[in-house]
Amino acid sequence: MKTESLRNELLFLLICLLFVSCTKEHKPEIGLFYDDNISLDYHQVIDAYKKLADFYDEAALFEKGMTDSGKPLHLFMISAGGDFDPGSVRNKGKGIVLINNGIHAGEPVGIDASLQYAVYLLEKRDDLHHLLDNTVIAIIPVYNIGGLLNRSPFHRMNQSGPELKGARRNARNLDLNRDFVKQDSKNSRSFAGIFHYLDPDVFVDTHTTNGMDHQSVMTLIPTMHQRLSGQMGDFFRHKMLPVLYERMNNETTWGMIPYLQLLNRQDVRDGILAFNDNPNYSSGYGSLFNTFSFMTETLAYKPFSERVRSTIDFLRILHEFSSGNNERIIELRQEAKSTTRELDYFVAGWETDTGLSEKVLFRGYETEEFSGEFTKRSIRRYDHNRPWSDSIPFYDKFIPVTEIKTPRAYIVPGAWNEITERMKLNGVEVEYLERDSVIESEITYINDYTISSASNQGRNHVVVLETKTRLGKRQFHRGDAVIWLNQNSNKYVVSMLEAESPVSFLSWGMFTSALESGEWFSLYAFEPEAMEILRNDRELRQEFERRISSDDEFAGDPLAQLQFVYDSLPHPETETGSNLYPVGRLL
Ligand SMILES: [Zn+2]
Repeated sequence: MKTESLRNELLFLLICLLFVSCTKEHKPEIGLFYDDNISLDYHQVIDAYKKLADFYDEAALFEKGMTDSGKPLHLFMISAGGDFDPGSVRNKGKGIVLINNGIHAGEPVGIDASLQYAVYLLEKRDDLHHLLDNTVIAIIPVYNIGGLLNRSPFHRMNQSGPELKGARRNARNLDLNRDFVKQDSKNSRSFAGIFHYLDPDVFVDTHTTNGMDHQSVMTLIPTMHQRLSGQMGDFFRHKMLPVLYERMNNETTWGMIPYLQLLNRQDVRDGILAFNDNPNYSSGYGSLFNTFSFMTETLAYKPFSERVRSTIDFLRILHEFSSGNNERIIELRQEAKSTTRELDYFVAGWETDTGLSEKVLFRGYETEEFSGEFTKRSIRRYDHNRPWSDSIPFYDKFIPVTEIKTPRAYIVPGAWNEITERMKLNGVEVEYLERDSVIESEITYINDYTISSASNQGRNHVVVLETKTRLGKRQFHRGDAVIWLNQNSNKYVVSMLEAESPVSFLSWGMFTSALESGEWFSLYAFEPEAMEILRNDRELRQEFERRISSDDEFAGDPLAQLQFVYDSLPHPETETGSNLYPVGRLL
């Protein structure tokens, strides 16, 4: 009995070994159905990447943190020699290209396109494999997992396929393409982990757009070139982008134009405005860290298969450019990082310069107006039988409107721990005060602001209308965070901590409690005290009398008069007119 069972076990082992070696010899079958208007679902995508990672030594699939869906965020990497350690890859002089997909899960082109491109690379098709000699490809298969688990034919209503589309928002109903800097979702916090682990040289986030109809399948949002530090912006605008547009237009049938944001909504011929991708968006986030960043936006009215194929071609052309210019890209980024570490001024707000334009070739369709059968309103129809093309103005230069002189450091009180935690997720080095200290710093008061009554991404926006600053001694405490501005992440730090930055934590409503008043006085009990104070303070009394004689409203408002005296008292910092912005600036 014993011998027989041993023999059976050996036989079984042998079969297993044979099976394993057989499977290792046969390339994994990866089913992709975009030509049939079908996009893979979440489980199919992850299974496909698992198969590739199991079979190819130069491929690996990692779990990198959690998402709001309760499922982990995956990162797939393709690297020659199976070296998946970013530090080691960098030491070999290789560049890293990161591709993010399905952030809006109803726009899944990149999910299928990236998988297809990974298969092409690994199967050594079309002479692509040599690109891995000096570059590593990193793919986030699905970013908005909750959205992809929620598929319906009715999401992205007027988009031409695929049959089932995921939802725009994630499991927590957040739009992840507004969450890159404030990081309320687990997705974005895990994404930050991946981004700073890889420190990609090139980053592309794949989307689909609707809006007006035209002939090109691909539209592109490159990050605003002026956001990139040092010489990067020039290289981006004058070397990289022209090659990408030229090759997409000349070597593929899809065509590529800038993403359409029109100067005049009635007529595209008046010109296209470059997209101001503030850092709430993926590409704006990437450029904070001096990464050449893009959002691809295929046109929703083109068949799904064409949109996937155009995205594959864009990824290939971008990868070829990155590999062909690898040394220059790495050099430019190093220089940009050192410029960023010495940041003196930071532009937080930009406006399009409508005085300066270039020409781009636009290929459109003539339109006609007709009366809608249902609403009887006038509706525009694009006539595909009447194509036209013309050179139209493209405005892609911006003027700084909010310029900030950077401090030496910021101090974030320990009470605002969630701010510091987000800083650390973004590669920011934080020191902590070892003892309670009175520190000479710039103190900011938010004198005037509005808070939106409607919520946006679960938060009520604060718009700062007026600030007042003064230099002075302020009490800080043991454990308060000190963030020196000598870091690669400087642009993130300034964007998030400056009161007047349009994407700051303050603007996202994360300091709103600091703007509320906590102390007051008792109306009847303060009355004799206020009288006594005025009696004893000549200067204050004179100021009060001036105010009474010059301001009728004040003269008729007893409450305002009591408040006037109350505000003159030496309150602790947090109550000096309240509205003290918690973040201190060291000059
Ligand atoms: Zn999108």
